Amino acid sequence: MAEHKKEKILGVKGMNDVLPDEAPLWELFENTVQAVLRSYGYQQIRTPIVEPTALFARGLGAVTDIVEKEMYSFTDSMNGDQLTLRPESTAGVVRSVLEHNLIYDGPKRLWYSGPMFRHERPQRGRYRQFHQVGAEAVGFSGPDIDAELIMMCQRLWDDLGLSDIRLEINSIGDAEERNRHRADLITYFEKNSELLDAEAKRRLQSNPLRILDTKNPAMQDLVNQAPKLLDYLGDASRAHFDGLQRLLNANNIRFTINPRLVRGMDYYNRTVFEWITDHLGSQGTVCGGGRYDPLIEIFGGKPSPAVGFAMGVERLLELMRASTGTISAGQCDVYLVHQGDAAQLQAFIMGERLRDAGLDVVLHCAAPGGAGSFKTQMKRADASGAAYALILGDDEMAKGEASIKHLREPDMTNNQRHIAFDQVVDYLIDQIVGDGDHDHGHLHAGQVHTHH
Ligand code: ATP
Ligand code: MG
Repeated sequence: MAEHKKEKILGVKGMNDVLPDEAPLWELFENTVQAVLRSYGYQQIRTPIVEPTALFARGLGAVTDIVEKEMYSFTDSMNGDQLTLRPESTAGVVRSVLEHNLIYDGPKRLWYSGPMFRHERPQRGRYRQFHQVGAEAVGFSGPDIDAELIMMCQRLWDDLGLSDIRLEINSIGDAEERNRHRADLITYFEKNSELLDAEAKRRLQSNPLRILDTKNPAMQDLVNQAPKLLDYLGDASRAHFDGLQRLLNANNIRFTINPRLVRGMDYYNRTVFEWITDHLGSQGTVCGGGRYDPLIEIFGGKPSPAVGFAMGVERLLELMRASTGTISAGQCDVYLVHQGDAAQLQAFIMGERLRDAGLDVVLHCAAPGGAGSFKTQMKRADASGAAYALILGDDEMAKGEASIKHLREPDMTNNQRHIAFDQVVDYLIDQIVGDGDHDHGHLHAGQVHTHH
């Protein structure tokens, strides 16, 4: 009978699987992030991945890259609602803060982590599902919290072992200051309109500030000579920016002022910053942030200042892969090898007792072809990365003793012991956790092996 082999269904382009080999690095990253954010008193907030499309259209500004062309928007076929897979999380967090009146009793330090979705051209460091970790400090007005957020990033880079990330900061003032600058900017670009590319021409009236952000090499001279927003700052914006720099300097945070630095979203004001590396090609920004004082009022809330950042997890992991070295992937302490029904039952019981004692244990289970010979099972034990194989067969069952084989012992003649069933847990705990002098290979995700 002719059977058609079914075609495989593949994942969505630009949306990646994190495979088991990679997961320990993610776990290390996530654990480190959590510890650093907690050490500054930030609380986690988890908002839905889907939000009303209107939230992003209103919050991000209609003429931003994201809203113009990158959003995964769809109509809920059940009720006609317009929905969008979140392209970033600030809008959702602010919505949630307002919906639940989280700042009724004072400002809040919040952080989040999770997948974001943007319909961009997939390439190195740019995916359609990617992950961000971000922090939002809502209800804080001064440069002190701006400095704190930046220092938190610096501590995270240090704890992750990343050294080559530099900080650029700028102030983009308030709306009135930007308007005066904007008028002069448009005049300047109009005078030089023959040097503008198509995208810049399109942006000239709608969002001329973004022209300064162009990556077009032919326009670099033009944007370098353009009127600088920093020269338009009033006293309050100036004092805020000076205050930030004072705090960064006093805390030994190195930075450069990039007068052309602007952020993609419309809602930013005053402080903006980016953390940049030269090791990821043109996708070198690993974290971007800034102050967005106007946003809460735009969302219908009582005016309240706020500031935050978002970092690109995939880009940071790529840097970690280069600097951190290998991380043990899903290794266990003990692999249980067994033959026969009685031995299988004993293996289940011992497995539970070893896990009760805190060890990570893999019990051999049947695959097509059966439970497998001792030889097959020992191969599996070796491949599992376990430090020990605990072997139960007819002999062991008859004597009431388990054979315990040290799989990492270079001295192959003397690497097997017979241990009475009721001594097995103590023996293995002693060997593996022991007096702490030896590395018995008891290493789990979240611990790093660095090689220099
Ligand atoms: P870019 O200029 O690279 O498009 P952006 O201004 O759109 O960045 P933000 O919206 O500020 O980026 O997001 C913060 C961070 O999230 C970025 O600095 C980057 O590290 C990461 N990021 C943004 N878009 C992607 C993507 N498509 N794939 C992977 N990471 C991304
Ligand atoms: Mg972008």
